[in-house]
Amino acid sequence: MSVMMRTAVVLSGAALAGIGTALYLQDGFSRGLAFAGLLAPGVVALAYGMVRMRERKLEAEAALVENQLRFDMAFAGARCGIWDWDLTANRVYWSSAMFDMLGLRQPSKRLSPAEIKSLAHPDDAHAIDEIIGAASRASRSYDTVFRLRHADGSWVWVNAKGQVWGGGRMAGERLVGITIDITEQKLAEAREHEATDRLVDAIESIGEAFALWDHDNRLVTANSKFAEFLHLPVDRIAPGTTLEQVMADAGIGSDWPRAGGIEESVWEIRLPSGRWLQISERPTNSGGHVNVGTDITPIKVQESALTQNKSALEKTVRDLEASRLKLQHQARQLVDLAEKYAAEKTRAESANRSKSEFLANMSHELRTPLNAIIGFSEMMETGLFGPLGSPKYQEYAHDIRSSGQHLLELINDILDMSKIEAGRMTLEKQTTDLSTVIEESLRLVSGRAEIASVKVLNEVGELPQVEADKRAIKQVLLNLLSNAIKFTPAGGTIRVRGGADQSYIALAVEDSGIGIPAHALPKIGRPFEQVESQHSKRHKGTGLGLALSRSLVELHGGTLTIESTEGVGTRVTFTLPL
Ligand code: ATP
Ligand code: MG
Repeated sequence: MSVMMRTAVVLSGAALAGIGTALYLQDGFSRGLAFAGLLAPGVVALAYGMVRMRERKLEAEAALVENQLRFDMAFAGARCGIWDWDLTANRVYWSSAMFDMLGLRQPSKRLSPAEIKSLAHPDDAHAIDEIIGAASRASRSYDTVFRLRHADGSWVWVNAKGQVWGGGRMAGERLVGITIDITEQKLAEAREHEATDRLVDAIESIGEAFALWDHDNRLVTANSKFAEFLHLPVDRIAPGTTLEQVMADAGIGSDWPRAGGIEESVWEIRLPSGRWLQISERPTNSGGHVNVGTDITPIKVQESALTQNKSALEKTVRDLEASRLKLQHQARQLVDLAEKYAAEKTRAESANRSKSEFLANMSHELRTPLNAIIGFSEMMETGLFGPLGSPKYQEYAHDIRSSGQHLLELINDILDMSKIEAGRMTLEKQTTDLSTVIEESLRLVSGRAEIASVKVLNEVGELPQVEADKRAIKQVLLNLLSNAIKFTPAGGTIRVRGGADQSYIALAVEDSGIGIPAHALPKIGRPFEQVESQHSKRHKGTGLGLALSRSLVELHGGTLTIESTEGVGTRVTFTLPL
């Protein structure tokens, strides 16, 4: 726009210069004609000629004035004045439009350079010097901008341009040109400057990075925040730099949005510095685009912390869910096991019951004929109805009786055990003096002790009376004593000891026998549990004695404990509640 205007001004300047030349030539031509008229012969002709000449001159002058007026009017309309600086006389002719421009009245005299200088702005005096110096310059022209004072005190910006005419063979050099009022243009420029400054200020003051690109993806303008975000020195974002170049300098690949989109869009990119930018792209009317970038690093950091928390939480929830499922599964397994166990238990219990019932029945069925065998063999052995004949028969009868007795004992034990297990054993409790039971038991085993050459000592003192089944307690004592005698080598000692406190009476049978190995100890006392040894081989037994004794004691509400050291001896203690 301003270029266009300037071109127009130059053209009009040239045209005006041409017009000015024409005016001066015409002036010189009319003067020449007047001179020639004086030289013409013949008075009439001269007079006529003079009259014609005068008329013509008047006509020409009128035309000239009219022309001048027309130009002045045209120039005044264009706010453009004519300067004609006679360098020889050093006087300046200004057209009336020039004075109008400055709100001055046209003086009758031409102006002096000093007068013009006094009108010029003090800072612009050099412009007047430049005009004066045009004659000595090779271009022989001037083109300058300066301020002249208006009558109202304001300053009028003018652009003066012109060139040197005359000199050489022509008399007197003159500077002829035009001067255009460019105040409006200057004001517009200032306003534009101000607007641009304001715009720059505005895009600088937004907290975001701002960049405007043209349709060729070249930078039009960008703010310092843009340079800062991209870690670029400000000189790398000079207008005209291509987007490719800027992004290459910033170390950003092809992530940055290019012009071409027709709708506003938003990107997020990670800068090489590790920061995150959110860039919005908006197309401009001229085919370019605007980027506004916001630093969203804190949001991103928060976001990732949240995602991390969320995934940790999700993992915990998943773990919990897995644990819950596992627990459920385990609970189901436990229920299954419990059910299986209950079923097994019922089955085992019923099996045990039928076994005990069978044993009880069998024992009963066996005892009757066994008693007959024992009774009759005893009769034969003693020769109740006369001698048997051969002494061999006597020996056999003895064997039959002792085997029968052993069998009967065994059957009795089994019967008792079965009764207890079947829960059918009932105690006949009575107030019992234990010392009597102990003495009776010791008497019963004394024969066996003698055969085995072991000493049996009764070390039980005074004991309180106790509610107990006499027969059962005697059976327990006999079992413990017979074990002690059985497993104590000849020369050993067996002691029966006793004691009581407020709630219990305790009786112990101690021996100095072979003892029970530690590994076997926990099992001893269960039915049919025996320790294999050279010694036990010589003494047959069923392995029911201790189990039966324990059951009988427990039926009374007491306990039976076995303590033993292999090779040292054994102590079996039982208690009875008072
Ligand atoms: P029975 O049914 O005839 O009594 P048993 O004596 O073998 O046969 P228990 O009285 O129950 O059966 O004893 C079980 C086992 O404990 C014995 O075989 C023996 O190995 C061990 N035992 C018991 N008492 C003693 C003891 N005083 N010293 C060493 N070992 C013993
Ligand atoms: Mg025994």
